[in-house]
Amino acid sequence: MKIRLFLLSAVALTGLLSGCRSTSGQQAIETGTDTIDATLPTQLPRTAIPSHYAVEVTPHADRLAFDGKAAIDLKVIKATRELVVNVADLSITQATLTPKGGQPLAGTIAIDADNQTASFAFPRELAPGEYRLELTYSGKINTVANGLFALDYTNVDGQPARALFTQFEASDARRFVPSWDEPDYKARFDLTARVPQKDMAVSNMPEASSKDLGNGLKAVTFQTTPVMSSYLLFFATGDFDRITKTAAGREVGVVMSRGNGDKARYALDAEAQILPYYNDYFGRPYPLPKLDNVAGPGQSVFFSAMENWGAIFTFERRLLLDPAISSEADKQAIFGVEAHEMAHMWFGDLVTMAWWDDLWLNEGFASWMANKTTQHFHPDWGGDIDQIADREGAMGLDAFSTTHPVVQHVRTVEQANQAFDDITYDKGQSIIAMLEAFAGADVWRQGIRSYMAKFAYRNTRTSDLWAAIEGAGAKGLNEVARDFTTQPGIPLVQLGNSRCVNGNTVVPATLSQFSNDRRQQAAASPLAWHIPIRATAGTGSGSLQVTQGHNATLSAPGCGILLINPGQAGYFRVLYTPQQADALRQAFPKLQPVDQYGVLSDGLALSDAGYQPVARALDLLASIPADAHAKVAQKGAETWVALFRQMDGNPAAQSAIRDQASRAYWPRLQKLGLTPRDGDSPLDALLRASLIANLGELGEPHVVAEGQRLLGALQRDPKAVPGSLKAAWLGVIAGNADANSWEVLHRMAAAARSSTERSTYYHLLGLAKNDTLARRALDLAISKEPGATISAGMITSTAENHPTMTLDFVLSHLPQVTPFVDLSGSSGYVAELVEDSADATLIPKIQAYAAAHIKPDDRRPIDHAAARIKWKADNAPRIQREIVAWLKAHPANA
Ligand SMILES: [Zn+2]
Repeated sequence: MKIRLFLLSAVALTGLLSGCRSTSGQQAIETGTDTIDATLPTQLPRTAIPSHYAVEVTPHADRLAFDGKAAIDLKVIKATRELVVNVADLSITQATLTPKGGQPLAGTIAIDADNQTASFAFPRELAPGEYRLELTYSGKINTVANGLFALDYTNVDGQPARALFTQFEASDARRFVPSWDEPDYKARFDLTARVPQKDMAVSNMPEASSKDLGNGLKAVTFQTTPVMSSYLLFFATGDFDRITKTAAGREVGVVMSRGNGDKARYALDAEAQILPYYNDYFGRPYPLPKLDNVAGPGQSVFFSAMENWGAIFTFERRLLLDPAISSEADKQAIFGVEAHEMAHMWFGDLVTMAWWDDLWLNEGFASWMANKTTQHFHPDWGGDIDQIADREGAMGLDAFSTTHPVVQHVRTVEQANQAFDDITYDKGQSIIAMLEAFAGADVWRQGIRSYMAKFAYRNTRTSDLWAAIEGAGAKGLNEVARDFTTQPGIPLVQLGNSRCVNGNTVVPATLSQFSNDRRQQAAASPLAWHIPIRATAGTGSGSLQVTQGHNATLSAPGCGILLINPGQAGYFRVLYTPQQADALRQAFPKLQPVDQYGVLSDGLALSDAGYQPVARALDLLASIPADAHAKVAQKGAETWVALFRQMDGNPAAQSAIRDQASRAYWPRLQKLGLTPRDGDSPLDALLRASLIANLGELGEPHVVAEGQRLLGALQRDPKAVPGSLKAAWLGVIAGNADANSWEVLHRMAAAARSSTERSTYYHLLGLAKNDTLARRALDLAISKEPGATISAGMITSTAENHPTMTLDFVLSHLPQVTPFVDLSGSSGYVAELVEDSADATLIPKIQAYAAAHIKPDDRRPIDHAAARIKWKADNAPRIQREIVAWLKAHPANA
């Protein structure tokens, strides 16, 4: 999986594990197409290996149930009396095993619900050899995205409709077919589905045949898949349309609910554009005959898309461009999500991690590749800065003692689900960006090509990738890669006084570890990394050194302004001396935008953690030039919003912050204009929406007044606000809503037809700062009105301004809330609601929740949220004091 969902405001997924994978010799078991590594964790005895599944399903969408039959060709590799497969929520009525050329044996069925397995015992010992296991079973259609699930929506004729989809990663194929449901058990799949004659059915492969069954049903059979992991199998059916194009000799398509083809054109064009680029990059053409991207009406708080081989699934808001509601940011996200999922067709689907320990190989790589692809096709979108923003997201998690290494030890299904976090995705991609810069782009790509060639249709571990890249010529990469993927945390490069020696700047550096919540311990016994450190001092691209241990002397040509990590490819923080920091601040307006972004982010994090005065970061914030790159300006405005929230309870300070932000960014917004203009660059459009949202969040008077005017206009004319700015302006209205305007929004939500509009409006209702309205949003969320896939996200958006109220509400309404939460994300859901709060009274509440509802091994998201809240509560007085002092010394109207 998956690409995570970008909600109206980003709420990070958490999920934390510690320790690292022990390496041991590979004891390989032959499977014909692959090997099973006997040292991998498993819930299944290594006695049999499947090679082919023939699956037949008959969904009964009306009663949320399905019937299934599976015929599994397998090889018994060790004599045994029983076969064990993964099963969850399936009821198996019959099990028959037929040895090749022999007589069928009836099996006795036993289900172990806790371990999600079924075992079939046979009357005699099964000798090694080939068999066919035939099973008859039935299962549930879920209403959240696990296994086979239903999405209800209003169709183009205004009628209620239901479509079915599957979501199997990490471990939910077992809810659809009894299976060896672990990534190393690759097999071929044949799928037949009995669906209504009028509906479309979609799977990984093209349709092989369709037979009218005469009773309003047809049996659709799909072509056999290549060998692949069970979590990549896909099936969907409903009242769909499909649009297609040919790209690089393959058919690419988008499948969506009937009547929405126009909204899918943008995604289809992007798909056709990206495919040949990937064929070339990976050095192997996309291996399946077609590639669909299937739109699901609705959403999940936990993911927005899934890389089923040949049939990507994406929730509508991240696939369909809807002129009524989609913003420039949505448009760019559609491209980015598609690029991410398509990268998985190679990295993940063709070559798959052997076990969830190495999930980052899939997700870090796909995230990095999406950014690279975006920069290639859309160099004017600021992707280089997005890469740094993602790094900062990862560091936000990695700075706590509850973090985990990129390569981690996963034992349970729940831990596999928790592994989809910011470390896996964003630290993963940041490390890859650093290593690509270290190896050089050509050597890196050559290494990737040989990795693809060597491991196609097979499974790998992280060390296989490093070996391939080093083999392509990246000397020394292995040491850097190993240190950054097997150790948790962030290196801290602390500089001493620099000197000018023969035209070079020479600076001693202490190399330790950056930490938020264990600064003293990290300083006393820091981890050590091989760190590639680039330095410039005013001339050229500077120098690159790989440090090791805890001390280094850095040197850069020139004696100008010293900048460590220019271009920001390095994954570490830099603490300058006061003199160096002051010189850098004075030079700040002239730095490259990506360096402005990186230096400011570093400064904010170092000040927050107490490594330097808060004033030093605020001085940088105030140094952002009036005409800064849009992404830097956006970061500036967002930072003022974060400071505003930090000063909750101090209206005088909040008012001073509002004045600062207004002085810095209202003129910029006026210059951009409050409505879209012909000739807007993509970044103009992005910045306009972002400044409206951020200044509105601060209660900036001009923006709030315009929001109120637009609300009046909207009641007369629903098109009074252009679609691309609708979410931004309605967000301003929602945040500052009174009972009246909240009700207007509520009516818009209830009347909205498209699922994207609906979910946007309902989420906005949760953003009201007013306590009574926030509480009303929570009550509404658990009513039948918004619809099952919207409720969990509405609760999450309410937590943004009201974490304590939201947590109390959720804990006192668990039976109502739990059914809205995907099984794959349930342990992190409660943690997410509160992890940005500084209210220490929340800690015992979430710990009590965990004690009652989450197994001890699976509590890391809660542990992380507790660590984060405690750190925020402990540090708030210092930070607030220093912010107030800075604001006094820098009056906005001076
Ligand atoms: Zn992914």
